[in-house]
Amino acid sequence: MIEAQTHTTELTFDVEKTRKDFPILNQQVRGKPLVYLDNAATSQKPQVVIDSLVRYYTEFNSNVHRGVHLLSEQATEAYENSRLKTQRFINAKRSEEIIFTRGTTDGINLIAQSFGRANVHEGDEIIISGMEHHSNIVPWQMLCAEKKATLRVIPIDDKGEIILDDFEKLFNNKTRLLALTHVSNALGTINPIKQVIETAHKYNVPVSIDGAQAVPHLRVDVQELDCDFYVFSSHKMFGPTGIGILYGKKSLLEVMPPYQGGGDMIKSVTFEKTIYNELPYKFEAGTPNIADTVAFGATIDYLNTLDYEAIHNYEQELLEYATGRLSTIDGLTIIGTAREKTGVISFTLDGIHPHDIGTILDTEGIAIRTGHHCAQPVMQRFNVPATARASFAFYNTKDEADVLVNAINKVKEMFS
Ligand code: PMP
Repeated sequence: MIEAQTHTTELTFDVEKTRKDFPILNQQVRGKPLVYLDNAATSQKPQVVIDSLVRYYTEFNSNVHRGVHLLSEQATEAYENSRLKTQRFINAKRSEEIIFTRGTTDGINLIAQSFGRANVHEGDEIIISGMEHHSNIVPWQMLCAEKKATLRVIPIDDKGEIILDDFEKLFNNKTRLLALTHVSNALGTINPIKQVIETAHKYNVPVSIDGAQAVPHLRVDVQELDCDFYVFSSHKMFGPTGIGILYGKKSLLEVMPPYQGGGDMIKSVTFEKTIYNELPYKFEAGTPNIADTVAFGATIDYLNTLDYEAIHNYEQELLEYATGRLSTIDGLTIIGTAREKTGVISFTLDGIHPHDIGTILDTEGIAIRTGHHCAQPVMQRFNVPATARASFAFYNTKDEADVLVNAINKVKEMFS
């Protein structure tokens, strides 16, 4: 059972109170209390976000930017308010630097197809790392294939950290972009991106950061980081699916060609010539995902009520506790032991396939993910076909970590 926690951050972060904001957590799965540890795949949504979606469709569903009627004005205001909230949330300098996309994958493809096709030419190089999600590999590979450019990869060590000495050696006068994840979804590693961005800028190389796994756990300030692009997905940070954010510096976005053509991204169209709209609309062709963008604004409002520092401390405590308990299990190996991590624990159990672990844990009401986590090069680096991955959010508890440990011991018994 999940009981009230006594931990050092309880005064500023009350996990039991917070859990009540997430109705889905309070249910039985396969006759057992749900233990949701698949947050790196997608996180759960607080009631205020669900209410925002219902309210949008119940009260002011209408298309944005085009109507002169009241509902369209209300929808437009709510949609644009989400942009302003996002701007403040990541401390972007200007609201037009916030582009709404379908998600992280869509944002990275936008950068590759727009910035990439305009700036990467034959013989040029793009640097990524050995711990990227497929979303931050394949779009660059496609670009390199088209342009006859080369992908260079920062190696990672046995802990799952990028090797900084090797990293700097990858730069030369052909390097056009560094695309790096802030936090690894397969290993939990938090990369030292501020330092990495500084190094890249020394060589005049712009940096695109995949923030999908960072924003749910860490406060991000894009001006302080001085990154050139930063992309993330609402659904991993307690917001709805189908909406993502691309932050880009205005100086770069302004000169980038549009990604897709269509309505809303134009100022005027004749058969002879189209004049593109200004930022951010130049990159938002067609009717956007209005409802989810509005609800994403409600998500930011919700996150702003939480004390991120207290959450961070709580999550670190939870990670340490779960890591300590899992480490006592004979035959269990944790893949990814970086010094700086978020609450992701990837592991293998001697002689038992991760899919079997996941299936048996499911019978205990525990949701984890098994497989390659869309990071096959990471699996190859660590010489495993797959891992089991428990990923924690701020609404998880030490008791849930205990339930996980007991269930893994049961799995071991079944296979002994
Ligand atoms: N990058 C990382 C590090 C991720 O964890 C994910 C999602 N697993 C993505 C990119 C892709 O995000 P989305 O599926 O929301 O586009």
